[in-house]
Amino acid sequence: MTPSSAPRAEIVVDLAALRHNVTVLRELVGEGVAMMTVVKADGYGHGLLESAAAARAAGAAWLGVATIDEALALRAGGDTGRVLCWLGVPGEDYAAAIEADVDVTAYSVAELDEIRMAVVAVGRPARVQLKVDTGLSRGGATLRAWPDVVAEARAGEDARIWSVTGIWSHLACSDEPDHPANDAQETAFREALAVAGSAGLDPEVRHLANSAAAILRPSARFDLVRCGIASYGLDPAPGRTPDLGLVPAMTARARLAVVKPVAAGAGVSYGHTWVAGHDTTVALVPVGYADGVPRHASNRAEVWVAGRRRPVRGRVCMDQLVVDLEGDAAAAGDPVVLFGTGVSGEPTAQDWAEASDTISYEIVTRIGGRMTRRHV
Ligand code: PLP
Repeated sequence: MTPSSAPRAEIVVDLAALRHNVTVLRELVGEGVAMMTVVKADGYGHGLLESAAAARAAGAAWLGVATIDEALALRAGGDTGRVLCWLGVPGEDYAAAIEADVDVTAYSVAELDEIRMAVVAVGRPARVQLKVDTGLSRGGATLRAWPDVVAEARAGEDARIWSVTGIWSHLACSDEPDHPANDAQETAFREALAVAGSAGLDPEVRHLANSAAAILRPSARFDLVRCGIASYGLDPAPGRTPDLGLVPAMTARARLAVVKPVAAGAGVSYGHTWVAGHDTTVALVPVGYADGVPRHASNRAEVWVAGRRRPVRGRVCMDQLVVDLEGDAAAAGDPVVLFGTGVSGEPTAQDWAEASDTISYEIVTRIGGRMTRRHV
């Protein structure tokens, strides 16, 4: 693609990088641990179906999603492997999930009741995974309610209403490996498993770890790990993760809309939060917060133009942002990389996260808007 035929702004997703990352993670956790690639939120912004296919090709036995709609979209897109979804709300369409052979998560007796009704309506048993809250205080049965949930689940299994295929929980502080909550949650999880075991539940998979725990806490791997962010090549625990050779799969790029001189003393962008200290040349990048570029990165982030990092000057606007070329030559139409692999020195999604006081998850799931997305 020549610069002039390149889109105004695009996201390029390198599926080979995604396959590579899933393979690296699989090799790290070893053969006895199944890989679930988490593809919720449109594959963390990388494309649901494309990410799913890449993960499957690299050996992900499971895909993880938040909503039943996401699971059904996987089925509609041709995925036939194991899929777990975990964020049910009252009135959820469990019947559709059961018909689509999706494993659903239950946290409570009330939820199990809803699933039972769906099983009766559909006329075939469900696959249910039980979630226990070991300390995140989000979804999941409390440890107090756990024995009741387990008893109900066991009764439903005996009545062939469902099979309990998994028991799982989620960590609060996995990106801080020394945080005491990790030990506490793992201990609570083992206790919850023991309660389930004494009630006669023997699920196919027990799982606790997301990317950070899968990498940093081998004892938390159990039968399966649920890897999201690391599959997309981003560091789940910046500064704490060993170099595994993960490759960021997403590049966000555009073409410069305008290049022009700015005189010393000129204020740049809304509010004149940056004023040129000397004569310089600025370039206009045609993406803004409506495309998911964080406004909080105003005057803080950098982009890559003509082989160098250039600072964002002034406020990020709805459709555009201004960068300082610092005297170097560039022309309208030239490529600009907002973030990419970082291999040549260009900023990464992690750099943008730091410039925006957020996490890389938010950068990649939000970038988009009017940008086109291309998979290579
Ligand atoms: N498991 C659950 C329940 C999640 O909600 C998520 C993502 O938020 C993940 C696993 C994947 O986490 P990560 O992207 O940190 O690997």
